Amino acid sequence: MSPEHVIPAHQCPAPEPRFLADRMLGTLTRYLRFMGYDTTSANGLAEGNAKEDTLLLELALQEHRMLLTRDAELARRGKEKAILVRSEDVMEQVQQLVEVGLVKRRVTMSRCSLCNTRVREAFECEIAGADYAPKDWRGLSFFWCESCGKLYWNGSHGRMLEERIGGMRER
Ligand SMILES: [Zn+2]
Repeated sequence: MSPEHVIPAHQCPAPEPRFLADRMLGTLTRYLRFMGYDTTSANGLAEGNAKEDTLLLELALQEHRMLLTRDAELARRGKEKAILVRSEDVMEQVQQLVEVGLVKRRVTMSRCSLCNTRVREAFECEIAGADYAPKDWRGLSFFWCESCGKLYWNGSHGRMLEERIGGMRER
């Protein structure tokens, strides 16, 4: 292949940030997944590990994730690879990540809020088989988590989140 064929016309977009959240940040974890960010949680680890902090630091490093924590000592140990989340309020937590430029205000509904798996478009049978789905499908998009067998749609929690996240104050 001649060189001109391998020179890209545009710069690659910056890679999306990935996160690892501590046990205090379960709600923020779900919000970040609704916002489309690959976010794993310490809640997925076995409990009772006395060295969990060290494990979290190692995991974040191995998986190229930004560690999000409410623990000042853990944040200090993580240095530039960790963020000390200041507020207990989830909207203020999202706002902090927006302000440092890590996330954008958006709701993509592209990941399962329970397990972080990328969701796909749902089949009719999956929508029909979910008794919690709205009866009127008009104007809605449905998504399916194959891992959990859970249905998502924009227009309910999606719209509520969009209003909350989109309505946050600018800097
Ligand atoms: Zn899932």
